Amino acid sequence: MKRFSIIGFPLEHSFSPEIHNDAFIANGIDATYSKIEIKPCDFAETIQSLKDEPGWNGFNVTIPFKQSIIPYVDSIESAAKKIGAVNTIRVEQDGTWIGYNTDYSGFLSPLKNYINNIRSCLIIGAGGAARAVAFGILQSAQIERLVIVNRTIQKARDLTDSLKIFYNTEYEVFSLQENISARQSFDLIVNTTSLGMGSLQNELPINPESLINKNTVVYDLIYNPAKTILLSLSEKVGASIINGLPMLIGQAEESFRIWTGKLFPDDLKQKWLKQIP
Ligand code: NDP
Repeated sequence: MKRFSIIGFPLEHSFSPEIHNDAFIANGIDATYSKIEIKPCDFAETIQSLKDEPGWNGFNVTIPFKQSIIPYVDSIESAAKKIGAVNTIRVEQDGTWIGYNTDYSGFLSPLKNYINNIRSCLIIGAGGAARAVAFGILQSAQIERLVIVNRTIQKARDLTDSLKIFYNTEYEVFSLQENISARQSFDLIVNTTSLGMGSLQNELPINPESLINKNTVVYDLIYNPAKTILLSLSEKVGASIINGLPMLIGQAEESFRIWTGKLFPDDLKQKWLKQIP
């Protein structure tokens, strides 16, 4: 039996085991997918023991280890290298680990019908997910203006500095506290912060009203709640909205493809879109 797991902390709310175990059964693959919760202080020791343990075929890596896992992979695929984050590991027959990033293709999956019309993009946040979002959009759309807004402005500057190496476009950065509402609207606005989720459920990351036109797509990476306060408000003023669930399923499907060469059956995807969270 093949063995896969997700590595992260905390993992109690992760849907990845449910998704992958359903997909193994549907595809007739003899495999199991578990959760390994690792306290950050135990990270190095636990990863080394997983590397030494035979029988593993792959891992997903999530918060807070997507960057700290990089020194432990034996090679890294080019997109993951550019993004600077690994969320998928394939264990080869000789035991070597190859690191991939599937967050960026998962992020792009629900944007297929919009991508050709996206020229300007506002990304709220500058953490690991924002890196994958920025790389994905610059790689796939004809972006003429990319604005990044973050609580810690230096992290937004660091992110644009690393993007400038690969993509030549107009960049601007702001801190969350600054008012960018007087500026022109965007074709795509993406929230990559946790504002709108859990204890921050009533927090709006940015007031979208003056940043939206009738063609704007507002995309929140949060999927629980399914409609954040940002998405509700944006929908009211005429934007198209996307939540984080198609990205969650899209990044999982790409990991599954890397491990097994197979895709998720459509009926399973429809089931998850209705049942999660
Ligand atoms: P990181 O910890 O790397 O980044 C968090 C970001 O949120 C940073 O920009 C941080 O700002 C900002 N932030 C956090 N708390 C606050 C706050 N109280 N006020 C203002 N800004 C805040 O996390 P990730 O980038 O990995 O994940 C971010 C979000 O994306 C999470 O909600 C996660 O669930 C979601 N996500 C969804 C996925 C999906 O498949 N749908 C996939 C990956 C992530 P600062 O830099 O100032 O700290």
